Amino acid sequence: MGKVLVIGCGGVAGVAIQKCAQNDSVFTEICIASRTVSKCDALKAKLEGKTKAVITTAKVNADSVDELVALINEVKPDIVLNLALPYQDLTIMDACLATGVDYVDSANYEPEDTENPVWRAIYEKRCKEKGFTAYFDYSWQWAYQDRFKEAGITALLGTGFDPGVTSVFSAYALKHYFDEIHTIDILDCNGGDHGYPFATNFNPEINLREVSANGSYWENGHWVETKPMEIKREYVFEQVGQKDMYLLHHEEIESLAKNIPGVKRIRFFMTFGQSYLTHMKCLENVGMLRTDPVMFNGQEIVPIQFLRTLLPDPASLGPRTVGKTNIGCIFTGIKDGKERSIKIYNVCDHQECYKEVESQAISYTTGVPAMIGTMMVLKGLWKKPGVFNVEDFDPDPYMEALNRWGLPWVVDENPVLID
Ligand code: NDP
Repeated sequence: MGKVLVIGCGGVAGVAIQKCAQNDSVFTEICIASRTVSKCDALKAKLEGKTKAVITTAKVNADSVDELVALINEVKPDIVLNLALPYQDLTIMDACLATGVDYVDSANYEPEDTENPVWRAIYEKRCKEKGFTAYFDYSWQWAYQDRFKEAGITALLGTGFDPGVTSVFSAYALKHYFDEIHTIDILDCNGGDHGYPFATNFNPEINLREVSANGSYWENGHWVETKPMEIKREYVFEQVGQKDMYLLHHEEIESLAKNIPGVKRIRFFMTFGQSYLTHMKCLENVGMLRTDPVMFNGQEIVPIQFLRTLLPDPASLGPRTVGKTNIGCIFTGIKDGKERSIKIYNVCDHQECYKEVESQAISYTTGVPAMIGTMMVLKGLWKKPGVFNVEDFDPDPYMEALNRWGLPWVVDENPVLID
């Protein structure tokens, strides 16, 4: 059916590419392009003989629009799947605009250098106007709406698990279970154990930036910001057990607040063990989470990037991680004049993921929806000119694809609610 150009070849891309290769009647050609081409070549070699898809590789620096445009013109893909880092979202969108190719990603834009004065001025204005201080927000990518519309191409933003599947769960709940949704609590539980004292499940830089930042939630039309980890709850997760979870700011809150009419409150909670939190606080206190360059032995280094070189590569956690993830949403609202609450969730087993694609469940639960979102656009089911979040489209074909491609979901019509 079509050719996909995947940019990035890390933990998430590794899974998404293997899923595209399994789904070779849709993805007939796959070009894997990244900064370190040896990783792309290794994945291509691993897939040889296992798929009918034709696989090629290329080297690209996705910070350069010119390099991306040259690559897209050479490869001529039907669609570009961006699984590099959020830092590259805008350059890749620019390249898609210049070449007239559809765009898909799994995380919204965040600048690499948060001390850049031009970005900082816009950021500080946004903090004041909107009331949340996260470094990432959708304004940068939503600003491409008119240009994508005029170019007649689609940008599908945020098709990972959260954002991604959680947003599709919201659209599905609204379509089939509610006349009005009043509250959404998104619960991200990783009950996995990798045996290291400290490691992050996906890119350490992105992960630690997110977790050490202020929390926030949406209530009655505005943002309420909290100190990092200020709000804690306990919850018993199906197939995992009881965990502590903490309220974080998360990007889908912003798009769901815009796209779910009448919603009164949206919160996001993630589980953390005490050891993770103690390590993180210590790293933060000594300055290792800083994102600005500092001088070391006559050379500039960015502490959080240096830290990344010390921590285990998330891609290496797969064989050692045991246990399950349980990620989903609790919805409350009204159906036919009566109050109702449901929970939709998926449980994913780290070792099962490893058996299938040699990856832990965090990359798996992101890589599978990245493939599915790309398939939705490629098949024309979710294709219209402009820039969209996943909840803008009909959730049904995506929900079916989750069941088929390894992330089956459950609807619990009597969930325990969170105060
Ligand atoms: P990794 O760090 O494992 O992989 C990132 C990949 O991007 C690497 O292959 C890296 O290449 C490549 N890359 C980085 N910079 C460039 C560049 N300038 N040009 C070309 N390639 C580049 O990250 P993950 O796989 O863990 O995460 C990928 C994305 O998925 C991130 O945006 C992350 O935020 C998102 N994500 C989304 C989730 C969701 O549920 N929505 C959950 C988890 C992650 P190299 O090897 O050379 O460094």
